[in-house]
Amino acid sequence: MANRHERRRNAKHSMSTMTVSEFLELPSMCAWHGCGKVAKNPYAAGWHSMLLYKGQPKLNFIEIEERNVQRDAVLCPEHARHLDERLLIDIGGRLRDVQGTA
Ligand SMILES: [Zn+2]
Repeated sequence: MANRHERRRNAKHSMSTMTVSEFLELPSMCAWHGCGKVAKNPYAAGWHSMLLYKGQPKLNFIEIEERNVQRDAVLCPEHARHLDERLLIDIGGRLRDVQGTA
């Protein structure tokens, strides 16, 4: 039986693991600072994925080198719209005009 010191050390260094499918089932939180909205299935709820990367533009995101990915996050519909309509320059309304494939 571990003594108190050993139990404390084990508690500090314990790490839980999960499968990829368990990880994918975790709820997602909107990346907007201060929002705090959470969705169990953000894609079904109309949330947007945001991928920020540096380097050459790629038509297929699979070709983006992982080391160039700066941010991979989701935004709730309200903040995706706020980002597009108020913070980014108008590039022709791409976010509003994109047709979903689901
Ligand atoms: Zn949000």
